[in-house]
Amino acid sequence: MWAGMTAAAFTVPTRYWHRLDDGRIQCDVCPRACKLREGQRGLCFVRAREDDQIVLTTYGRSSGFCVDPIEKKPLNHFLPGTSVLSFGTAGCNLACRFCQNWDISKSREIDTLADAASAEAIADAAQSLGCSSVAFTYNDPVIFLEYAIEVADACRERGIRAVAVTAGYVCAEPRVELFSHMDAANVDLKGFTDAFYAGTCAGRLTPVLETLEYLKHETDVWFEITNLLIPGLNDSEEEIDRMTTWIVESLGPEVPVHFTAFHPDYKLLDRPRTPPETLIRARSIALANGVRHTYTGNVFDADGQSTYCHGCGSRVIERDWYRLGDYRLDADGRCERCRAQTPGVFSGAPGSWGARRLPVRLSSA
Ligand code: SF4
Repeated sequence: MWAGMTAAAFTVPTRYWHRLDDGRIQCDVCPRACKLREGQRGLCFVRAREDDQIVLTTYGRSSGFCVDPIEKKPLNHFLPGTSVLSFGTAGCNLACRFCQNWDISKSREIDTLADAASAEAIADAAQSLGCSSVAFTYNDPVIFLEYAIEVADACRERGIRAVAVTAGYVCAEPRVELFSHMDAANVDLKGFTDAFYAGTCAGRLTPVLETLEYLKHETDVWFEITNLLIPGLNDSEEEIDRMTTWIVESLGPEVPVHFTAFHPDYKLLDRPRTPPETLIRARSIALANGVRHTYTGNVFDADGQSTYCHGCGSRVIERDWYRLGDYRLDADGRCERCRAQTPGVFSGAPGSWGARRLPVRLSSA
């Protein structure tokens, strides 16, 4: 069915847009609000105006598939130790100068995306590979939400959960639709100032905070937050203090926060790698402000990557990068020692996928 399909076969109509008085059509998927004339593409590059409507041009197309540990998304409180089938498409609706997936997010080579796959084929592959979930990752599912939703539904029909890895830069109406099909999310909170969002990502902070509040207060989606710390740009103690204070006050103490290390990439090559001490310091600030579960990522720090019971303080999940060690939670996520509930989604014994990364071609899955 998919072999030899033309670009038109991967193009579908969308519904979040409206006409402007000057003849342009505005896309209403994300706050960028691209205003397009016939034949133009939005900033994300995958939504375009064709035949006098906004279409998605990457429906059923992927930049590749890989089986990962769920901890790599990162999600530390969602079916620990299990494997997730990860995939993405092309394009992005932000323009982060430090993008660490820029070959995908900035891809203009949509016609040469490696794999084409129906939702059913992806769900079948996830099932046959023994994955507990499928993740829309590498680039943001917001821009390919019609495809992501169909894949999520096909997976959920088979008991496989759906995970969005997103920057949360989405308008209110599509936000509701996208997350109503998701079981979990990792939301990238890139900084806590408008200046950082505007100058480094070509975006705004407020819509991302609105997404976080929406997820917490109006959905059952389990979500965790990632904050990539870049030396000199968004890593001041004052900014981390304000961010984590806002998280506790607005979202509560139970939302896990991951501080991860930057490495020079894409257009941001003049900054050094994030020192481990910066992440350890950020984690200390978060803990002092009341965040119960906070982690360091992309560095060697087994203490900062393990999970501790908020009731008795004992280590309940030993974690080193993506590998689990000693595990002290019962099947429902309660501490074996004090019975306090660790927040998250737990189902029986932890998985045993380990730290493996397994690239797959769907035809051979
Ligand atoms: S989803 Fe794409 S086309 Fe639509 S507003 Fe955002 S960047 Fe523009």
